[in-house]
Formats: sequence, structure tokens, C-alpha cells
Amino acid sequence: MFSNKLNIEEFMQGLIKRNPHEPEFHQAVREVAESVIPYINQNPQYIETRILERMTEPDRVISFRVCWEDDDGRIRVNRGYRVQFNNAIGPYKGGLRFTTHLTLDTLKFLGFEQTFKNSLTTLPLGAAKGGSDFNPKGKSDREVMRFCQAFMSELHKHIGPDMDIPAGDIGVGGREISYLFGQYKRLENRFHGVLTGKGLEYGGSLIRKEATGFGTVFFMNEMLKHHGESLDGKRCVVSGSGNVALYTAEKIMQLGGIVIAMSDSSGVIHVKDGLTLEQLNWLIDLKEHRRGRIKEFADHFNCEFVPDSKVWTIPAQLAFACATQNELTIDDAKTLVSNGCIAVAEGANMPSTLEAAHYLKENKVLFAPAKAANAGGVAVSGLEMTQNSMRLSWSMEELEDRLKTIMKQIHKQCIQHGQEDGEHVDYVRGANIAGFKKVADAMLAYGVV
Ligand code: NDP
Repeated sequence: MFSNKLNIEEFMQGLIKRNPHEPEFHQAVREVAESVIPYINQNPQYIETRILERMTEPDRVISFRVCWEDDDGRIRVNRGYRVQFNNAIGPYKGGLRFTTHLTLDTLKFLGFEQTFKNSLTTLPLGAAKGGSDFNPKGKSDREVMRFCQAFMSELHKHIGPDMDIPAGDIGVGGREISYLFGQYKRLENRFHGVLTGKGLEYGGSLIRKEATGFGTVFFMNEMLKHHGESLDGKRCVVSGSGNVALYTAEKIMQLGGIVIAMSDSSGVIHVKDGLTLEQLNWLIDLKEHRRGRIKEFADHFNCEFVPDSKVWTIPAQLAFACATQNELTIDDAKTLVSNGCIAVAEGANMPSTLEAAHYLKENKVLFAPAKAANAGGVAVSGLEMTQNSMRLSWSMEELEDRLKTIMKQIHKQCIQHGQEDGEHVDYVRGANIAGFKKVADAMLAYGVV
């Protein structure tokens, strides 16, 4: 039996050797290893059984060719993936991402993160992630449809309501989920909840669309309350203007916060007195239905637009990182601290670099990591699966209450494992250890598999 203590650097060297050229995966694992390895060293049953080595190796990686025809009759070839990371505590569950330059590296980082996030939701959900290097931007609806049908023609062999239940992510919204579900139904001749984020007419759940953003704000609220603060009257910046960002902004406003900046990859809008509800609804319509750019908002409402900029430069008390990975760097963290920011919540997956997260912690900024803060989306996906199995639909109030309760429970788990001397809570450590323990104990129970 092995009983030597694990060493973070040695563990990382081994991981990098086995998975070369995958910097995002390395980053995601290091973030977990830094907090989980000291815990593992106090609990030798996890060392002897090599649980962390097993948890960093996906159960399987599926890669496939996706061939489709564009509007001009040209044949296009993309690559599809599904990384089924871990099903120790439930069927594989996680989003599909359609974006140019999507790599296996990104999907492994996302699938690994998903393992911990899904464990924290308190629901029986395993972890997966998938997608394609297909970019829906600029494609016609018919092209997107043909791509989704071709993608599902292969993916359907690997998914099922008790096996693997994909959902949306970047580039995969309601339109794409509808095309994917339609094709699955056609191929399998079965109507069951194999995807989440479906339309309400065919088995979708109320508030799924809003859930990640709403959950991020509920988590921020819990974190502030725990430290004697509140959202009321706080000036907030939100990066991105996609699904997560828009509904983060909506819930901030409902809970009394003031949203002064949002962005997309072309730049930042700065609304000095705060967005009004009318302006936010206009922006939701622009982004969800007209697929427009955020600059159109600035042109329409005559507010400031700063091209090629980030929201972090605008002084605010609360920051919500809701766009993409590694969008908040060490320099951004320094700017936030020097401008008096008291809390950061990650609505996107791994939006902060490791250095940025360390800097924020050292400077006592409350920091809600993605796997805890943005778990509301997958949690409501879990509730969509429950409703599908029961063949019924819950009301908006019931679902929002359940979401709020889940986010409170996630916060509680973070406190349980992340409370430090005095008042400070290390939310990264809390989320990592709580998420790890449940999956690791299930894996131990199964023996050597
Ligand atoms: P969307 O595609 O709906 O939105 C992404 C937004 O981020 C767009 O506004 C995009 O702008 C913007 N963006 C991308 N890169 C940058 C950048 N460098 N600077 C500023 N803005 C940028 O995706 P989602 O909202 O669904 O997902 C966002 C993040 O949240 C991802 O990390 C995703 O994995 C994570 N997440 C999503 C969940 C969900 O339920 N949707 C659940 C849990 C996590 P542009 O249009 O210009 O590219």
C-alpha cells in the first residue's frame, strides 16, 4: 500500500506529462490540487486509493467528424467531442459549447470543473462537457439546423436520460437545443429528457434560462450576508452580455444593486447612473433575438462605449465575471482592489487566472469561485430532469425557491470546509473540498474501477 504524502508539484508534473499541451486543464487541476491535496494528506484512504489521479482522468473521450452542407452547397467538416468525465454520483451532465478553436484542452478543463460543481449542487449528477469547433455566429438558421442535425447523428449513440444529458453553453442556446433535440427524437423514436434547456413546449423548465445568472447573484448575496453586507445600493460591473451576464444583471437589479457596466468581446458599455429595467429588457431582446452587438445599445441609448476594453477598469464595489475563461487577469485584480471592490463572483467558468484569484484572496476580497457560484444553471437542469421523469412542470416561484435553497446549501458547504481563523472564508478551498469529498467517497465505495 502507498502511504507517502502527496506533493502538489510532483502531482502536477505527473499530470502535465500525461496531458501535455493542455494549459487550461492544468490550470483547473492546479486550482483544485492546491486546496484538496492538503486535505487528502490528512485522510490517507484517499492517498492509498490514488483518488486524485483517478479523478483527473476522464472516464472516456469521444471525438467525431461532423459533415454538413452550407447554404451555397459547399461541404463543411467540423469536429465534435463529448468528454464523459465522471459518473460516480449520477449520469454524465454538462453543456455543449460551439465556438471556433474549441479544443480538447478546454473541454477537459470544463469537464473536470463540472465534476466538483455538480457534486456541490446536492443533486445526483455526474460530469461531462462537449461541443464543436463550429461557430454559429454569422450562420443562417438553416445552416445551424443542418450542423446540429449532423452533430446529433453521431452524439445520440453516446447519450441517454440515464446515461448522459447534455445542455447548452457558449454558442448553444435555445435554438441549437431545439434542433439537437428534434434530431435525437427522430433518430431514437423516443420522447424523453435527454437534453436540458429545452423549450417550454416540449419539456423545458421555467427559469432554466435565467438560472445560472440568478444563482450567481443568490450566491453573492449569501456571501455578503455572511459578512454583514448586502447587495442593496452596491455598484456592480458584469462582464459579457450573453445568457449568464444578462440574467445576472436582472437579479442584481431585483435585489437592489446598480449595474453600471456590461460588455461583449468588442468593448464595454458604461451607464453611469445604472441600467434601468427598460434598458436591460432592450439589451436582452438585442442579444437573444436580434443577435446584435453591445455597441448598438450605446448608440441607441446614447451612453459611453469603450472599444476593446474590460469592465474591470470601471470602479465598482462588486464584480461579476460572466463572459469567458481567463478574462480577469492579475492586472485586472489589482485594478479592482485599488478601486475598492469588496467581492467578486464567477458566473463564467474559470474567468479568473490563478494569479488573479490568489491576489484577490490575499487582499481579503470575497471571492466566489465558478464551481460554487455558477452551479445554479446545472442545478435547474437537474430540476428539469426531475420534472421530465415525473411528467409534470413546477411553477416559476417553486423553481426559484428551490434554486435559492440550493445556492444557500452550496454556500453552507463552502463555509463548512473553507472557514479560516477569524471571519475570513476561503471559498475556493471550501468548494473544492466539499465537491471532492462526495465524489471521492462514492468512488471508494465502488472499489477499484
Ligand atoms: P454566451 O455565448 O451566451 O455569452 C458569452 C458572452 O461573453 C457574450 O456576450 C460574449 O461576447 C462575451 N465574451 C466572450 N469573450 C469575451 C471577452 N474576452 N471579453 C468580454 N466579453 C466576452 O455564453 P454563456 O453566457 O452561456 O456562458 C458564459 C460563461 O458561463 C461560459 O464560461 C460558460 O461556460 C459559463 N456557464 C454557462 C452556463 C449556462 O447556463 N449558460 C452554466 C454555467 C457556466 P461576444 O458575443 O462578443 O463573443
